Formats: sequence, structure tokens, C-alpha cells
Amino acid sequence: MSKIEMKTPLVEMDGDEMTRIIWQEIKDELICPFIDLKTEYFDLGLKKRDETNDRITVDAAEATKKYGVAVKCATITPNQARVSEYGLKEMYKSPNGTIRAILDGTVFRAPILVKGIEPNVRTWEKPITIARHAYGDVYKDSEMKIKGPGKAEIVFTDAEGNAQRQTVFDFKEGESGVFKGEYNVLSSIESFARSCFMFALDRKEDLWFSSKDTISKKYDHTFKDVFEEIYEKEFKDSFEKAGITYFYTLIDDAVARVMKSKGGFVWALKNYDGDVMSDMLSSAFGSLAMMTSVLVSPHGYFEYEAAHGTVQRHYYKHLKGEETSTNSVASIFAWSGALRKRGELDNINELCDFADKLEKATLETIESGKMTGDLVLITSLKNPEKLSTEAFIKEIANRLSKLL
Ligand code: NAP
Ligand code: MG
Repeated sequence: MSKIEMKTPLVEMDGDEMTRIIWQEIKDELICPFIDLKTEYFDLGLKKRDETNDRITVDAAEATKKYGVAVKCATITPNQARVSEYGLKEMYKSPNGTIRAILDGTVFRAPILVKGIEPNVRTWEKPITIARHAYGDVYKDSEMKIKGPGKAEIVFTDAEGNAQRQTVFDFKEGESGVFKGEYNVLSSIESFARSCFMFALDRKEDLWFSSKDTISKKYDHTFKDVFEEIYEKEFKDSFEKAGITYFYTLIDDAVARVMKSKGGFVWALKNYDGDVMSDMLSSAFGSLAMMTSVLVSPHGYFEYEAAHGTVQRHYYKHLKGEETSTNSVASIFAWSGALRKRGELDNINELCDFADKLEKATLETIESGKMTGDLVLITSLKNPEKLSTEAFIKEIANRLSKLL
């Protein structure tokens, strides 16, 4: 069998610890035997980031702008312990944060559904993808703890020195309390909205957006208006052609509807709502190891990865020579997602077909009862067989070669 040819390289971002081990195995067993893989390789492993003073992360993001599609392995975000462990020159920022800032993107997290791992919510038949607006709001607020009497105010002073002020609260004598100020920037909300509409079109799924506009008549209402305007002006026609809808509803109504829905849509959320709801959804869908993550920029760049981290605890076991059973499904789906996107952009049907079959082989392996330890604990299948990290990938490779 001849290998599938690629036209444009994928931007490949290697990473750390157990996911770095898995990365190599996925390439060796599942990708390179079947595809004449073209990548622009960037080693975002912590050692290389330190050697290059983190320049490599910026270069990888710039390459994504050039080629359009990237696939990324999980990476360590250094804390003090990592600075000592790796003898780092600096406590570098999160690579994902750096890449997101350069690509101006939104992160979409989608669960991978498979028979035998049932969501806790019985009605969910299809994945619910969450888009979180990761900018501003409570994460960048200014807060004060105060003691009355006194007046809490918000003030905006323009370039000419004209001030607009509003009283937040009049604190009485002996009355202590707290208050805060939050902000957001219109261009960021617009980018977020565009990424959401683009992603929903890409997936051919409805888009929901929800906020608390009835209570927050200026702040949240602005988000609602921005989505509405961009939809009407830029996306309405293509949504109608694709047979999908844009739907706005109040956050509490959305939460209630989500719990009774069948799934199969993209749910855009403000920063805090997205933070909370993405954790709720990933645990209700089963396992963090079955969650993919796609960064979509409003300029049309895509970066695919697993939502989980580098699985440090398993890596230390691996280093001691002990057998591990680490789930590679989300990393495999990062590869299939990126290859499919590359195939679509370059009109290579074989590449899209390969991506479909790679996913099929992965899911069928689990459905046949062969899975990693994390899934054995939660599966509804009888007598599941727990495979090691390597054996699970080899099993998928066997099925994949039969499918091709
Ligand atoms: P983690 O790597 O996601 O792992 C947390 C725990 O979840 C694991 O110990 C394991 O539980 C379970 N788990 C996660 N992925 C799994 C998989 N594929 N297969 C089986 N079990 C899995 O989070 P962390 O330990 O908090 O973080 C480790 C490093 O990852 C940190 O340095 C952090 O900075 C980095 N991180 C990177 C990204 C990213 O690059 N996108 C995201 C998050 C975290 P058991 O131990 O119980 O088996
Ligand atoms: Mg959270």
C-alpha cells in the first residue's frame, strides 16, 4: 500500500512527560506507516523552551499563522517546583496562553463519545462543545475590601479628563464590605463571536450563546448585541445554507435546556460561565482523557490538542520502569482533527478518509472492551480488558490497518 501524500505541512508542537511518550508512539504506530507525514516540527518540551528562552513557542505560533493548521502535545506550564526540577532560567508563561495571544483565538472543548462510556446525563447522545471567552471579566477585575462609612464608586475618565461616575453602594457607619470593577474590550468580544460562528459552521452544528443580559443591562447585553450583529451581517446566510441555527438565551435558561438536550451543538459562554460549565460538562461526559480541545482564531487558524495535561504521575511511573495505562484517545483525536482539517483545506480526500478511519479504529477498540485503566473504572461494558499505554495504541493500529 502506498502512503498518503500531503501538500502543506502541519505545524507539529511536541510537548512534555507522558504525553510526549504517547506522541511518539502515535506517530510511529498510527500515522507514519500510512501517511507520508509532512510537518514543520517545533519542540515545545520544557528543556527546549528554556534553551530558546521560550522563543520556540512564539515561532510555533507564527508558523501556525503561516500554514493554518497545528497539532499540539500537552506541555508543562512551569511553577516553582518545575523551575527547580528542570533548573529553568525563568518561570515561563503557559505555552497555550502565548499561542492563544498570538493567534487571537478561542478554545473549543469537545468530548469524545463512545459506546460503553455513557454520559451521566441520560439524554446526551451527541457531544456538547464548549467555547469559553478567555479574556477579562472577573479574571482581570479590581477588588477592594472596605470599611464604612464611605461611598463605593466606579469612575471612567476620558482622554480630555472628563469623568463619568456612578455610585456602586453607600456603606454606612460600621458597615464593612467588598466591591469590584470588571472590564472587557469590544474587539475581544468580536473575535470571540467570529471564532464561535466559524467553528459552528465548520462542525455544522447549532450555536448557542447565553449570558445574564436581563440583569447586566450594559455589560452582558453588549455581548448579546455583538453576537447578534455579527451573526446578521456576516454569518446568517452561510448558517442558513448549512442548515444550522444561532440561538441566544439567558444563561439560566440555557443551563436548564442543556440538561434536557440531546447534545450536538456548540455552547458559547462568557469567561466565568465557561470556566464553570466546562468542568461540569467534562466530568459529566466521563473522563478528561476523552476531551479534545481546538483553538480557532477568527482569522482561520486551527490548533488541535488534548484537553488534559502531561499526566505527570504516570510519567514518573514510566521513568521507574513500571507499566502505565495512559489514555491516548484525546491525543489521537488531536492528530485526526488536524489531518482532516489539512485534508479539507488542501482537497486531499484520502487524508480526510484516513482521519475518519483512525477515529473509527480508536472507538471500536474501546467498544470491543479493550481500553486503558481510566476507562475500565467507568465503563458500562462487561469484563473490560485493561491494556498498557503501548498495547492500547498497538491494538488501534491493528484495527486501522484492517480498515484501510
Ligand atoms: P493532567 O496531566 O491532566 O492529569 C491529572 C490526572 O488526570 C492524572 O494524574 C490522571 O489521573 C488523570 N488523567 C489526565 N489525563 C489522562 C490520560 N490521558 N489518561 C489517564 N489518566 C489521565 O493534569 P496535572 O497532573 O494537573 O498536570 C500535569 C502537567 O500538565 C502540569 O505541568 C500542567 O502545567 C500541564 N497541563 C498542560 C495542559 C496543556 O498543555 N494543555 C493542560 C493542563 C495541564 P490519575 O493520576 O488518577 O491516573
Ligand atoms: Mg475551571
